[in-house]
Amino acid sequence: MQENYPGYSPADWSLRLDTFAKNADLYPLCECSGVWITANELKTIDAIHNKVLERLAFTLLCLAKFNDFRNPVNNHWVSYSNGEIYKMACINTTAFNKDINYHRLRELGLIEYAKKVNNLNIRVLFIDENGDKALSVSDFRALGNEWRLWKGERYIRCEGCKTLVKNTNGKRKYCIDCAATGKRALDRQRMQRRRSIQICES
Ligand SMILES: [Zn+2]
Repeated sequence: MQENYPGYSPADWSLRLDTFAKNADLYPLCECSGVWITANELKTIDAIHNKVLERLAFTLLCLAKFNDFRNPVNNHWVSYSNGEIYKMACINTTAFNKDINYHRLRELGLIEYAKKVNNLNIRVLFIDENGDKALSVSDFRALGNEWRLWKGERYIRCEGCKTLVKNTNGKRKYCIDCAATGKRALDRQRMQRRRSIQICES
């Protein structure tokens, strides 16, 4: 964690890591190098002509494909919480609008809901299983930004943690977290240097 997670604090993570370790045996380990999105799927999303709905549809598509990989009889279902889906889609909106967005994708014939009332699962209906592979997605942290990058918006992968971040001025190299971690490390080095100079002088 120390090597791979910027700003890692053992105190913040110990409880969660204990829970992960306890539950590790419950699920088989699965390694997925990424999912392929086909040309037709990209075309379908592009034709929505609404930036927010495009990001949401792209995110649901990636999640459905990942679930299909984990479970071959999944049949394109997505079963994540609204909060998780919208976070990955990089969409910040109200609970009301979250539901409206799903409703609009449903009206476009792109998704359907589970028939059971007590179930919030969503099924993606525009998967083109045998289409030409066009885009490989291996990082699910900011799927909405992956879509923005594909659309030609100015995004870069942070040189520290590889997450996608906006690069408006064309000069950015790091995300906020990695930039802060880098700055803290520099401050520490400077302080150590200053202390060693003071010791030499005294
Ligand atoms: Zn970073």
